[in-house]
Amino acid sequence: ASDVDKGQPHYVLLHEEEKRLNDLLDELILGCPFQYCIGTSRFMELDLSVGPGVLIPRPETEELIEWVLAEKSASITTVWDVCTGSGCIALALKKAQSDWLIKGFDISKQALAVARKNANDLSLEVSFEEKNVLDWSNNRQQCDLIVSNPPYVLPSEKIKMHTNVLEHEPGLALFVPEEDPLVFYRKIIEIASTCLSKSGCIYFEINPLLVEELIALG
Ligand code: GLN
Repeated sequence: ASDVDKGQPHYVLLHEEEKRLNDLLDELILGCPFQYCIGTSRFMELDLSVGPGVLIPRPETEELIEWVLAEKSASITTVWDVCTGSGCIALALKKAQSDWLIKGFDISKQALAVARKNANDLSLEVSFEEKNVLDWSNNRQQCDLIVSNPPYVLPSEKIKMHTNVLEHEPGLALFVPEEDPLVFYRKIIEIASTCLSKSGCIYFEINPLLVEELIALG
């Protein structure tokens, strides 16, 4: 494989390598997202493990992180990534701000296992906690910054979505009820009303179709 890495056009694949390549091609032909096939996804210069049950981090979430970092205030200590999935937001923020105490929350045990593996593999000290955001009752935890990319896709958008996403990525991380698409945003704002410090901020990723409604919520 090292010869392949060096880009040698005359390299002849070993039998094992050829089998692996053919297996990967079969998975791709069946619509498996490329990142699941290779088991990793590049996100803000981090190589994150991903697999079925975890949303593949998207470039728009990288933009969210760049925005948070561009506007960060010096008074931030504790940061929450609500609906963390692979841990991408929490881990990228920790990589950039090693002094922040960062915690990621998710309802999915499968996602949390991946997030913890990613933290461990990258030697980034982020803690993760299992939490159904919609059931979150006031606890005494406090934070200075909430960053969240919660589910926000409408079921009516399925028609324009690729089967790679629809048949392979977790619906739990993507879809919200058509009749209450901001359910996560409302709940996170409610949580913030008791847990966020006075000068604290919330940063959301949002469905472009729901921007006006989200502004109206604030
Ligand atoms: N941006 C993702 C997509 O386009 C959705 C992420 C989310 O639901 N929070 O599939």
